[in-house]
Amino acid sequence: MTLKPKISMYWASSCGGCEIALVNLNEKILDLDAAFDIVFCPCLLDTKKKDIEALPDEDITITFFNGAIRTEENKEMAHLMRRKSKLLIAFGSCAHEGCIPGLSNLSTAKEHFKAIYIDNQSVDNPAGILPQPETKMPEGTLHLPRFFERVKPLSQEVAVDYFIPGCPPEPHQIWSVIDSVIQGRPLPPKGSVIGAGRSAVCDECDRKKEDKKIRKFYRTFEIITEPEKCLLEQGIICMGIATRNGCGALCPKVNMPCTGCYGPPEGVLDQGAKMVAALGSMIDIEGLKGASEDEILLRISETLEQLPDLAGTFYKYSLADSILRGRSV
Ligand code: SF4
Repeated sequence: MTLKPKISMYWASSCGGCEIALVNLNEKILDLDAAFDIVFCPCLLDTKKKDIEALPDEDITITFFNGAIRTEENKEMAHLMRRKSKLLIAFGSCAHEGCIPGLSNLSTAKEHFKAIYIDNQSVDNPAGILPQPETKMPEGTLHLPRFFERVKPLSQEVAVDYFIPGCPPEPHQIWSVIDSVIQGRPLPPKGSVIGAGRSAVCDECDRKKEDKKIRKFYRTFEIITEPEKCLLEQGIICMGIATRNGCGALCPKVNMPCTGCYGPPEGVLDQGAKMVAALGSMIDIEGLKGASEDEILLRISETLEQLPDLAGTFYKYSLADSILRGRSV
């Protein structure tokens, strides 16, 4: 019997949507199973960590690692899967850029614990007890993984071979990567984003683009949008201009703005900065001809103040991997 190459999928700090995306391969999952031995996937299989530790180094052909690095356990598993895998692929937005967990970098670990275990109205904790890495009990010592100050994407912890973006990645894109490996097609240089396009979502969005001049921003529930016109031109913040394509512009297709889950397009370092720069040239300053610089800046800041959550809008998925990475103190 020929031994099949091994594949694994591990989840760190994430929501489980990436596993659902894998299962959404539908009947292709049978082709995956025919080509690979699925050796580790805590969501689907009962393989233990010690089974992986017992494998020779680089014995697993591909590991899809989804989830960000938030705890000591995430870190330990990232190093273990790196050691045991030929190709370590950061799978999905949390592993790629930190995603929603990365927004927690705007607060300290102490602030999180206070909000969750003390101030939380659904928690009854008069003694203010917080989770501890070690708790001594008569039966022995209980351990909880240490909670780090910051969330990191996978590449800030270990070397990553490729990145598959998306929250979650689209199944047809996941399959294109798996099929390339099965067929032995050459992969791009290490460090590349795969399973996605290279340019911006706007390039594959069918909505009509005309003149982007924005005077007022709306939240999606405040306006009934025209079905064929660019959402950004209608005052809805759509991140398509600063987001890598490959998803098929699925959100704008169903009248929802792109929120940026595929990360920045090729060559863009910081997705939020790219979006802010693009908006800077779209804010309507007509009627301010001859106005002073201060008056123009006032118009721009008044328009931007209509946005309720700047970090959550421009860095919803990418804060932990941005130039800022989070709050500085
Ligand atoms: Fe780009 Fe969004 Fe406008 Fe489509 S709706 S063209 S993705 S900004």
